[in-house]
Amino acid sequence: MARKFVVGGNWKMNGNKEQIGQILNFLKEGPLNADTEVVVGVPAIYLEFVKNNAPGNVEVAAQNCYKAEKGAFTGEISPLMLKDIGVNWVILGHSERRQIFGESDELIADKIAFALQNGLKVIACIGETLEEREAGKTEEVVFRQTKAIADKVKDWSNVVIAYEPVWAIGTGKTASPEQAQEVHKALRDYIASSISPDVAGGIRIQYGGSVTGANCKELGSQPDIDGFLVEGASLKPEFVDIVNAKQ
Ligand code: PEP
Repeated sequence: MARKFVVGGNWKMNGNKEQIGQILNFLKEGPLNADTEVVVGVPAIYLEFVKNNAPGNVEVAAQNCYKAEKGAFTGEISPLMLKDIGVNWVILGHSERRQIFGESDELIADKIAFALQNGLKVIACIGETLEEREAGKTEEVVFRQTKAIADKVKDWSNVVIAYEPVWAIGTGKTASPEQAQEVHKALRDYIASSISPDVAGGIRIQYGGSVTGANCKELGSQPDIDGFLVEGASLKPEFVDIVNAKQ
């Protein structure tokens, strides 16, 4: 099954209106490969601004949302609020949400299931720490994180998995194309056996962790890498080269 390449830019807690204007300018100038889906993950306060000003070929994602429609959840935003302002995507389970904000596999799975039920598309992040990799636990960890989601999600058509080894995020240490491919392939095999071959064949698995204009082509040529989730380089014009990695 052909899987459309999908590149996400996770801006994290970066940017102001002026800087975001510059990012929107280089996205408008592109040109962006029409065969690649592009999604930018925007700080909540700028979501509507970016939604109203981004070019039509760039989708907008929130970087988080809660597992309830509304209520006494100070500081949170709901999937319904995102839909209300025309935002159709959300990034959930990023390692910073897991590590800094203490989000468990279970909470993340609940949030993913609730976002999907409410019509959002989800970039679901998973990945092992350096300690876990060195202990030979990479597969155990990413399978556990995926299983937690699978326990609550039955329809995977609006899910993109982002495999982001934590040791490669923002460190300049990219997984080699072979290291990334090995985990992507293992994940796809795991999904085939534990969920279904159909889901495994159709689901897009992004790689994230120090992706740059210089390394994106080689990473993107791996058979089980279906796109990227990028932070540092998504704030720079180089992001256009990453979107165009498959050209
Ligand atoms: C990320 O935080 O999702 C990420 C991949 O960061 P960077 O591209 O800066 O390594």
